[in-house]
Amino acid sequence: MSAGEWLIPFNRPSFEGREHEYIAAAIASGHISGDGTFTKRCHQYLESELGVEKALLTTSCTHALEMTALLLDIKPGDEVIMPSFTFVSTANAFVLRGARPVFIDVFEGAITEHTRAAVPVHYAGVGCEMDQIMEIAQGRGVAVVEDNAHGLFGRYRGKQLGTFGCLATQSFHETKNFSCGEGGALLINDPKFVDRAEILREKGTNRSRFFRGLVDKYTWTDVGSSYLPSDLLAAALLAQFEARDSIQERRQRIWERYRAGLEDWAPRAGARLPVVPADRDQTHHMFYLLMPDLSARQRLMAHLKSKGILSVFHYLPLHLSEMGRGFGGREGQCPVTEDISDRLLRLPFYNTLTESHQDRVLEAILELEA
Ligand SMILES: *Cc1c(COP(=O)(O)O)cnc(C)c1O
Repeated sequence: MSAGEWLIPFNRPSFEGREHEYIAAAIASGHISGDGTFTKRCHQYLESELGVEKALLTTSCTHALEMTALLLDIKPGDEVIMPSFTFVSTANAFVLRGARPVFIDVFEGAITEHTRAAVPVHYAGVGCEMDQIMEIAQGRGVAVVEDNAHGLFGRYRGKQLGTFGCLATQSFHETKNFSCGEGGALLINDPKFVDRAEILREKGTNRSRFFRGLVDKYTWTDVGSSYLPSDLLAAALLAQFEARDSIQERRQRIWERYRAGLEDWAPRAGARLPVVPADRDQTHHMFYLLMPDLSARQRLMAHLKSKGILSVFHYLPLHLSEMGRGFGGREGQCPVTEDISDRLLRLPFYNTLTESHQDRVLEAILELEA
């Protein structure tokens, strides 16, 4: 069902101000393919705000992850460690190159002689234990790629998410905090990847170097694909970046209202609210409940649905998916993921969620208990 069919949908994209104006400007400029003015401004914005060596817009986070697998020369027989509790793209990007995804709950003990990379996912925009992850990975020569789809502008111990791994990826899909419909970015922290990333992104050609006047003709130099988005999308995205404070303030307010409204209810209902350790700055990407069990979760979802409120759950454990089982996944392999996956419920969360609509969600939750 589309957003319009619910009284309160789960997600609703919002335009924040200058999207139309910037898209019109891109059209007027006559440059609507990739790497136009707006793409460059998005790159500069991300590079200066995050302090990364290089940011490159991509057509999706999925494609940015595929680029990381190419840049790391992931080959058949390689192992890539990642949570089972994540979106399929985290795994697919590496599986496409013939690697075996190793699905885990905890990083410790998962590294073998075949491990090439580890992909922490900053779930809900709350940073993973990056000090430990970096120490373990660096000690064993394992590359770290952060899947930061939820975590743009979040911090772990004061350091921005997306700046820990040699590479990191962002998503600008409709459901993320900043969106141009479909889009993503590759963040490069290790400068040795910059030149090749530009080539992979431009169909395996040195077109970027040509445009900068570094070579006198452009030609096919490597494998690659077309990972760069239209400048029309970059125009919309830049407008979203420029509304960052307003977007993040509203999301924080929504998140805190959910927490305040459910604080007393949660212990009575045997539910748990999100926990954000004091040393993390989260991004207010989502608000979830951990219900006591699967049947309580399904009951609450059905009740909300009867009130026209769409709540959703995710992720089904990847190690128990059809593909995951093909890689040897079995019941009990990731007990935390299996447990959480049954109990987690995400509440409606979008920039334009009004207080009165949010109150209806809260009332519906409290009412079920009575
Ligand atoms: C949304 C998401 C992706 C994929 O993002 P796209 O831009 O839709 O490709 C990857 N990983 C995680 C954790 C996500 O939430």
